[in-house]
Amino acid sequence: MDLWVTEYQTPSLGFSCKITETLRNEQTRFQHLAVVETLQFGKMLLLDGMVMTTDKDEFVYHEMITQIALNSHPNPEKVLIIGGGDGGALREVVNHPAVKKGTLVEIDDRVITASRDFFPALSCAFDHAKAEVIVEDGIEFVKNQTAEFDIILVDSTEPVGPAVELFSAPFYKSAAAALKDDGMLVVQSESPFFNQDVIQMAFKGVQQAFPITKLYLASVPTYPSGLWSFTVGSKQYDPEKIMTRGSSCKYYNDEVHQAAFKLPDFVADIIGEGK
Ligand code: SAM
Repeated sequence: MDLWVTEYQTPSLGFSCKITETLRNEQTRFQHLAVVETLQFGKMLLLDGMVMTTDKDEFVYHEMITQIALNSHPNPEKVLIIGGGDGGALREVVNHPAVKKGTLVEIDDRVITASRDFFPALSCAFDHAKAEVIVEDGIEFVKNQTAEFDIILVDSTEPVGPAVELFSAPFYKSAAAALKDDGMLVVQSESPFFNQDVIQMAFKGVQQAFPITKLYLASVPTYPSGLWSFTVGSKQYDPEKIMTRGSSCKYYNDEVHQAAFKLPDFVADIIGEGK
């Protein structure tokens, strides 16, 4: 008998992967956590039944949530990641030559443990000399920071449970206060096909806190619809302008950096920037 894992990306759309083994299946304090071995994508981490990351396509998302800001800021020395408990974004951050310190604030330590147990290519970052890992609610953590960071990345689950407030205008305002006066914020803002409301909420919320707000896209095969968005708020620098060179990447490069901001009309319309 075949075994499959299915993420219901919408109530009427399932994304299924054939699996050979369930490696972890637990209810943490915050969410249901599973790790499965899939034939197509290798190991897969799911939270509350949603695909978070896989061996085979993690590089796309982790490079694109980090490298755009890391290479648009002239001196990204101090970077904060909210969420990101799998460690993939932290790996990109601490490997960037300009970064002096990458701080990860993840609310659920069981995600960090699962990554250490099953995703060595991601969790290697936790022990990096430039890395600091804190288990705490990122919303509370940010409220207690003032002009501390050059870049803040919100690598959170979708707006459910502990992540709801991470998509709110008050959070974006507190993130702006936690950034230096030339800082940048990047938030993962879900799918232009299935989550137009989340994109609008994130984009408008970031716009209220930053003078420059832009949306960019990447293709992530295991995320709902395969097309994913990121919203960037910047206090001073244009995120479309490349100012430093990142580490060598598999998906991200100068041309991808520029192309990511070229939006199809249906996406521009979502954020009210259509022709
Ligand atoms: N790349 C994935 C995506 O786009 O859905 C996100 C991956 S990462 C595993 C998401 C993490 O955000 C989870 O580990 C979750 O525990 C964490 N998280 C959710 N709300 C949080 C909060 N308020 N503070 C810190 N971490 C939070």
